[in-house]
Amino acid sequence: KIRVRFAPSPTGPLHMGGVRTALFNYLFAKKHGGDFILRIEDTDQNRFVPGAQEYIEESLEWCGLIPDEGPKAGGDFGPYRQSDRKELYEKYADQLVKAGWAYIAFDTPEEMEQLRKNAEAKKETFSYGISTRDTLNNSLNLPAEEVKQKIAAGEKYVIRFKMPENENVTDNDIIRGEVTFSTNILDDKVLFKSDGMPTYHLANVVDDHLMEITHVIRGEEWLSSMPLHVMLYKALGWENTKPKFAHLPLILKPQGKGKLSKRDGDKMGFPVFPLEWKDPKTGAISIGYREEGYFPEAFVNLLAMLGWNPGTEQEFFTLEELTEQFDLSRVVKSGSRFNPEKAKWFNNHYFQQKTKKELAALFKPLLEEKGISADNKKLERIVAEVKERCEFVSDLWNQSYYFFVAPEVYDEKTIKKRWKEDTPEKLSEIINVFESVEKWEAASIKEQFSAFMNEKEWGFGAVMNPLRLCLVGGNMGPDLFAICEILGKEETISRIKKGIE
Ligand code: GLU
Repeated sequence: KIRVRFAPSPTGPLHMGGVRTALFNYLFAKKHGGDFILRIEDTDQNRFVPGAQEYIEESLEWCGLIPDEGPKAGGDFGPYRQSDRKELYEKYADQLVKAGWAYIAFDTPEEMEQLRKNAEAKKETFSYGISTRDTLNNSLNLPAEEVKQKIAAGEKYVIRFKMPENENVTDNDIIRGEVTFSTNILDDKVLFKSDGMPTYHLANVVDDHLMEITHVIRGEEWLSSMPLHVMLYKALGWENTKPKFAHLPLILKPQGKGKLSKRDGDKMGFPVFPLEWKDPKTGAISIGYREEGYFPEAFVNLLAMLGWNPGTEQEFFTLEELTEQFDLSRVVKSGSRFNPEKAKWFNNHYFQQKTKKELAALFKPLLEEKGISADNKKLERIVAEVKERCEFVSDLWNQSYYFFVAPEVYDEKTIKKRWKEDTPEKLSEIINVFESVEKWEAASIKEQFSAFMNEKEWGFGAVMNPLRLCLVGGNMGPDLFAICEILGKEETISRIKKGIE
């Protein structure tokens, strides 16, 4: 059975790239009738940010990417948070030391700092590994007895992987094809820290094995860790069940070079986070797609198209359709540029698809916030009139506020252009026509109005524009008679009267 995991570290809010990783994992699992697992990788306690895990869970829920197993859902392979699995990892680190795949290193943080400085002075970067480890303070160089004594005396140590020399590590990445790394350029990564916690590398591999993960689908930034992980599977004797890897391409900035970063959004005014995030330390708020009025189906759709395409012209997909059509072999190798305008375009599509009933229900709370209550029928009518001019639920207000509040000021430009000396006189005659309309519906209002206008031989523009000005305060809005109908006879007439005062 296919089992994939999304394994974020709770070091802050989930970036949209992270959500895309979750989405591709989800789609791949669902397409093959497999399981989608959420695992929280919180072994780096220095980087832990309160609220981040909850944020991740809520983001996935909002997108409809519900884990089959995870901290909330539970499951047979739990716990699903690495800090809750703490006791599990040490024995694997020990096993690696015993087998000669890893060693104990006593170098203190001060010593490490000095080594880094020395290298820097020579314009080099220090690397703990093949070329340096033989001269350093570790169990490769110390007599076994001394190592024992040091540990017994409570000296702090870490466990490092002993990268073999002159080997090529090759693996077949589903997206990138065959990838080969020479072990000579890899360093001896820490597997187990002095605080009793495993590092990402050890915990990740151990958990993927214990949780019977079949495919590791993750961001490109982890490709460079793949050789170490492949070596770890070998060293732990798990080569036969090693998962297949698929490293997803980067999401790139809208302009310029490089990866879309967490900071780009606030700088450029578009969200990079699924939900709004308040930094617990600084209190700074970063905008989120949800709060900006995006529909989750639009967000999911736009993410799916960043790095994947169906090979057809189709651009709009529901989550179900994506599940049917998704295929890792159609994920591209190169990064895809994120286009915030295209994101809006996706949202607009889903916005227009909503029924007037759905939109009215979404609009209602915004009105209530402003202390306006309107009945559903009326709201539906309004929404149907203005929805074409909107992309977001919040646009509904900008396009329809005049239905709820009578204009206080009138657009100067329109007055200058359209308001003539005889306008008030003409409009008061229109009031009479409107008074006589019995069936207050757009069609009959229009009919009586037109008959009167034709009889008088007045130019339509000379009356319609000032009329609109009285009703909505400017030169905007849908069909004038639809506006009259929605406002109601009394309100329509009262607004005209107020306008010609
Ligand atoms: N914890 C890693 C992260 O934060 C997971 C990488 C992986 O999927 O192996 O992205």
